[in-house]
Amino acid sequence: MSAAKVSFVGAGPGAPDLITVRGARAVGAADVVVWARSLVMEEVLEHARPDAEVIESTPLTLEDVLAVYERALRDDLVVARVHSGDPAIYGAIQEQIRFCIDRGLPYEIVPGVSSVAAAAAALGRELTVPERSQSLILTRRGGRTPMPPGERVETLARHGTTMALFLSAARPRDLQRELLEGGYPPDTPCAVVYRASWPDQVVLRCRLEELGDRVREARINRQALILVGPGLDDAQTRSHLYHPGYGHRFRRLGAGERYRGRAEAASDPA
Ligand code: SAH
Repeated sequence: MSAAKVSFVGAGPGAPDLITVRGARAVGAADVVVWARSLVMEEVLEHARPDAEVIESTPLTLEDVLAVYERALRDDLVVARVHSGDPAIYGAIQEQIRFCIDRGLPYEIVPGVSSVAAAAAALGRELTVPERSQSLILTRRGGRTPMPPGERVETLARHGTTMALFLSAARPRDLQRELLEGGYPPDTPCAVVYRASWPDQVVLRCRLEELGDRVREARINRQALILVGPGLDDAQTRSHLYHPGYGHRFRRLGAGERYRGRAEAASDPA
């Protein structure tokens, strides 16, 4: 039976110790490691076998990468295709998966720590704050990849919840205008995290009305996550789930304790 396989490995946002144990093992098991230098730190390769073939993917087209998979099928090779963050988010893996399915080449996805998680960590905050924002929209501005109908920034902004924008730092003034058009008030808090978890990480906080200028001033135009929404404010809130008066199936209320908050705020502790 053929041993050929492709592992799409999420390498995390940058810091080499943010790859998962499973991801590191998948890199260590590979005959061929395909990785992008600009997005994944070189230390990830320390998990690779000394005799592994390492291919830098930056100059490669999809066809070039598929040729590697074709060779894997022919020569019984295990390939680790290393992606930044989590491969399922803007990882451009679907066309590679299509190839694997069509050719009968087994594949697996090893999840990774997305840059959205690393950005929240850099900001030192939760992104789902009770009664302020209970939804997080992960999206991007349309660029060379046009947005499907109903997913334009202005349209999604109407929800008024927290939004995390990937791949959207190149035209920050246009982004600011679209977010305002969508209805976020000009004083909505924003945060920009450039290269979260890398040694040169930059964190910028501002109000929406100054987002464009601040991103330009900081000369950030790529590898940044832009967060916007009223939930990013630092006003005091606390979760109903850990309120002493909020009993649930894992924590019974004590005598005299009664929860007075809204029941729907946290219906399931899981
Ligand atoms: N799969 C990746 C996203 C790849 S798309 C993930 O889960 O994070 C590339 C975009 O991701 C960049 O334009 C930027 O918006 C974001 N990104 C990736 N790594 C980042 C990092 N370390 N810090 C901030 N943003 C990052």
